Amino acid sequence: MSLAELLATLSDAFGVSGFEDEIRERIAETIKPYADEIVVDPLGNLLATRRGRSEKTLMLDAHMDEIGFLVKWVDEAGYLRVAPIGGWDPRTLPTHRVVIHTRPGEVRHGVIGAAPPHILTEEQRKSAPKIEDLFLDVGATSAEDVADLGIRIGDPLTIHYPFAELRDGYVTGKAFDDRAGCAVLLETARHLAERDLDLTTVFAFVIGEEVGLRGARTAAHRIAPDLAVAVEGTIGADMPGIKAENQPVRLRKGPALTVADRTIIVSRALLAHIEEIAARNDIPYQYKLPAYGGTDAGAIHITGGGIPSAVVSVPCRYVHSPTSTLHMEDLENTARLVCAITEDAPSLLAAAQHSLS
Ligand SMILES: [Zn+2]
Repeated sequence: MSLAELLATLSDAFGVSGFEDEIRERIAETIKPYADEIVVDPLGNLLATRRGRSEKTLMLDAHMDEIGFLVKWVDEAGYLRVAPIGGWDPRTLPTHRVVIHTRPGEVRHGVIGAAPPHILTEEQRKSAPKIEDLFLDVGATSAEDVADLGIRIGDPLTIHYPFAELRDGYVTGKAFDDRAGCAVLLETARHLAERDLDLTTVFAFVIGEEVGLRGARTAAHRIAPDLAVAVEGTIGADMPGIKAENQPVRLRKGPALTVADRTIIVSRALLAHIEEIAARNDIPYQYKLPAYGGTDAGAIHITGGGIPSAVVSVPCRYVHSPTSTLHMEDLENTARLVCAITEDAPSLLAAAQHSLS
């Protein structure tokens, strides 16, 4: 399977935070041949371990979950209201198509409705909608119709766009945040399958990042790693109308290294060593401009007695909206960097130690 095919499989899988079963199954199937041990922890994190020569452990983290919604209310006319799961931009939502996963395991389709512009007041036309005002049209004319479809309060849904190639390595799909990171971890596991590793390496595909870094916290506690790297899909903003100084990362500039975001300030020594690994392997990289966003590393680094952690990200445009784009070259280079970091983990671990001079 090519890297693009792998990303397509991951992107197309359903996995709203708290409902990660389908994406977890797909990842488990893919990583099975490359792991010595696979466990699913009590919260649903998938932890795949490659045993290394040393007692020390490296945790590679990517979150499996994606933003979505829960059915919140069904009115008498058969329209549904939704509660957001994760950080949506409400401006991007009206008129998109959704898939609802019912309790019996069936998929139902729907549309986020919107009044046509002809009948809006000037004021309505100018203002962004609120999520609580959005309504879902599932083709029902009564609450009974909705019940007949098997849809109930609490069912998860998301906006679904199938993966597609655009042009010359540019691809589009949903949930590249963080299925891009999942693809990087899987590619790393595949690439390192035949090599002996120094550090025991745990590929942690975690739940619930979008609702507060939940799975990463318990996974880090269980693994108790000596070093961690979170791999994310992050805020590509090289697009019209955005000043360069407000573009956290750009496409085709290589993996983005985090100096600081809202959840972590990465150790300067650790970061310098990652830069050195990138330079030695001829891998381009960019800095993610501080201090936008947050990642699982925010939870991991303050777990237990503290875990030195870094963040490497794949630039993705339009994250936290119904769809996203990335360039395959960035995905490949991020995988190359994470491979190199994994192979060079002992020296990275040494660089991460603080000591008095
Ligand atoms: Zn993310």
